[in-house]
Amino acid sequence: MTLDAFGLDGSVALVTGGSRGIGEAIAVAMADAGASVVPVARSEDALEETVERIETNGGSAVPCTVDVTSERDVEAAFDAAEEAFGGVDVLVNNAGTNPFFGDATELDTETWRRIMDVNATGTFRCSREFATRVADRDGTGSIVNIASVGGVVGLPAQAPYTASKHAIVGMTKTLAVDWAPEIRVNALAPGYVVTEFTEGVRENETIRSELLDSIPTDRFADPEEIAEPAVYLASDAASYVTGEVHVADGGMAAK
Ligand code: NAP
Repeated sequence: MTLDAFGLDGSVALVTGGSRGIGEAIAVAMADAGASVVPVARSEDALEETVERIETNGGSAVPCTVDVTSERDVEAAFDAAEEAFGGVDVLVNNAGTNPFFGDATELDTETWRRIMDVNATGTFRCSREFATRVADRDGTGSIVNIASVGGVVGLPAQAPYTASKHAIVGMTKTLAVDWAPEIRVNALAPGYVVTEFTEGVRENETIRSELLDSIPTDRFADPEEIAEPAVYLASDAASYVTGEVHVADGGMAAK
């Protein structure tokens, strides 16, 4: 056995939310694994930093400014990727938001819609564009959806986020069935990861210690610990894995 199947040599990967945190780590890891990468997000400066990291490591990347709630932006991102590197082989749906913590009785419908639009509908928009283009070129591909442990259990005080992540898990399973054998579709469900996203909960001593009590490994993950399974799921090493939810949560959901 060689480890070649774990690589992404010659592939083109488009990573949403590739400007920081988990998405940046995935973009860098996929480039290190041999893919040409198109990181996309709304902030141009942060995307440039991801590209610089990839190029410093000897990889190739082209940034694209995209809001995943805009169909036009999503189409333009795939156009830019095709122009730079050819057809996209790997789509990572990672862009996400979670602005609401509290009881659902305090939640306004507009915030609910916004969270669903970025997390769930954004994943759908990008997946539909990807699958259409893969079919147009009679190709094959792989989708990795970044869900959350909140896609497999109910996270307290996070009803809309948890709903959006369960939607991603459901979408993953149906699209895996519908788009096989050409496209594999898997979800990766991280627990708590050290990124800007979790700064608030990690900096609150009470919440931090309650959270750590719920995590058997007794620590939060580094973004690279999510990027590595993402590379595996995208690669040929996972060629018989589709419709799967791969949980990377330090044992949280196993409790
Ligand atoms: P983060 O540091 O806040 O990064 C979020 C990324 O998404 C940024 O690149 C952001 O860039 C992009 N983004 C947000 N809204 C967007 C939009 N409308 N269009 C395009 N890009 C958008 O968060 P993270 O911790 O890396 O989380 C990444 C993913 O992992 C999310 O889906 C999150 O739900 C999931 N996750 C995170 C954790 C955790 O503990 N951190 C745990 C489980 C799951 P711009 O703001 O520039 O657009």
